[in-house]
Amino acid sequence: MPADRPDPRKRARAAAKPCPICGKPATPQSHPFCSERCRDIDLNRWLSGTYVVPGRPLDEGDGD
Ligand SMILES: [Zn+2]
Repeated sequence: MPADRPDPRKRARAAAKPCPICGKPATPQSHPFCSERCRDIDLNRWLSGTYVVPGRPLDEGDGD
């Protein structure tokens, strides 16, 4: 087995998904965000209606 080709999927598993707000690596403490600050930004977006999809109740959730 060639040892000079690291599996990108393994690396992606080790590193968390990037923060949806600023794109920095997310931390387990603030998953899926990089910090409490970005989590707050996301929450504020929800509260201000940025993410609201017309016709769908907010409390339905996506089952993620
Ligand atoms: Zn962030």
